[in-house]
Amino acid sequence: MSQRTFSIIKPDAVRKGYTAAILAEIEKAGFKIIAIKKLSISKSQAEGFYYVHKERPFFDSLTSFMSSGPIFPLVLEKENAIADLRKLMGATNPANAEEGTIRKKFAGSIEENAIHGSDAEDTAKFEIGYFFAGYELA
Ligand code: ATP
Ligand code: MG
Repeated sequence: MSQRTFSIIKPDAVRKGYTAAILAEIEKAGFKIIAIKKLSISKSQAEGFYYVHKERPFFDSLTSFMSSGPIFPLVLEKENAIADLRKLMGATNPANAEEGTIRKKFAGSIEENAIHGSDAEDTAKFEIGYFFAGYELA
């Protein structure tokens, strides 16, 4: 059964001009782009998105980074979308990411790692709803 997941092309990748190349990787891997937009978020909007990490030592730095420039939030659909996107992204730290993954190709560091992908069904649902209204997904 087809499944939806949520992704973000992060500010580092947008700044470096990697947006189209990353979208091409995503489409080549069989994902359908259901929704996409370009926007900049405030620090407090980034804090709301990443609230699960609020106790982590990198929370302040992460939310400053995520609000440092334009991002592209995406809703993607395919069979097994959540797990398959995580596989396509590669490890959080690009130094550990497998050859051929998006983070191996485009990420600069463990923080500025080019792309976000939901890690479970419940987080995908929350994250899609954080950035998109129902009418944008019909
Ligand atoms: P994402 O949730 O963005 O898809 P992830 O699930 O691979 O990434 P998480 O552990 O959820 O990784 O961390 C969220 C984000 O926080 C990472 O993508 C990265 O940008 C940042 N981050 C994670 N660990 C560190 C760290 N040790 N130092 C700095 N930033 C970090
Ligand atoms: Mg995560």
